[in-house]
Amino acid sequence: MVKPVIIVHGGAWGIPDRLVEANLNGVEESVKAGWIVLEAGGSALDAVVAAVNVLEDDPSFDAGIGSGLTEDRTIEMDSLIMDGAKLDAGAVAGLKDVRYPIRLARKVMEETPHVMMIGEGASRIADEFGLERITQEKLVTGEAVREFEEWSEKAVFGDSFGHDTVGAVALDSDGNIATATSTGGVTGKRVGRIGDVPLIGSGGYADNKVGGVSTTGHGESIMKVNLAKLVLTYMNMGMPVQEASEKALGYMKVRVNGQGGLIALDPDGNIGHAFTTKRMVWASIKDGKIETGIETS
Ligand code: ASP
Repeated sequence: MVKPVIIVHGGAWGIPDRLVEANLNGVEESVKAGWIVLEAGGSALDAVVAAVNVLEDDPSFDAGIGSGLTEDRTIEMDSLIMDGAKLDAGAVAGLKDVRYPIRLARKVMEETPHVMMIGEGASRIADEFGLERITQEKLVTGEAVREFEEWSEKAVFGDSFGHDTVGAVALDSDGNIATATSTGGVTGKRVGRIGDVPLIGSGGYADNKVGGVSTTGHGESIMKVNLAKLVLTYMNMGMPVQEASEKALGYMKVRVNGQGGLIALDPDGNIGHAFTTKRMVWASIKDGKIETGIETS
């Protein structure tokens, strides 16, 4: 039997001081929700969904309720789930009215012959499986509006921006690794813009034989280097998980001048977390011991 481990993140970038406490509480609640599943012998897939659902409900993160706003002040959400046992994956993009995007990504993975669904077709699957719908009014929060207004003044995305993408990676007692990532994307994005999150190998990747990764940061950079898969490529070459995490982010910085962060696990339950933005918030539980951090570079 393998010892279960879970790590979650609540995104990278600036994380202003006003959000620090809420972010730390949020990742703590999230990692505990995932751990309850793992401790009871549940699957890594169930654990990452439970953990991400907590963060999708928490307005202090850019996923589900609290998602960042597009140029039209609307919300379009992306998410990805991956099962490292069979390399199965499910992704959804451009969702406007689904309360828990990660649950829908899982339905796409488990209940359809497809891997990625967008917009109206994705919402139809939500209806088919009775997943909760939600209005845009309920998804938009004061924090998202405040961030949008800051963005409108500067029209750049960067370290001053705060609340962010969420993700989880878990290893269960059967040795299965799963990853889940969910986001409202970057504030001020063009309508119809899809980020890295739903792209397999960019927003996340899981392979029982190598490890699991969930990423955050500048989507257009992450997708160009396939950041999640790049970490696993380095691990496959024999690099320890922490070193591989740092090296992949370093490559993204040097090659496309992109900033971001990520969490990672290897099949022995070793944890990696790294970032090149100003801050990143994360939490993990290993051997029943919880650790949380909101690190500043
Ligand atoms: N990676 C996300 C995106 O580009 C945003 C983030 O994690 O900050 O949509």
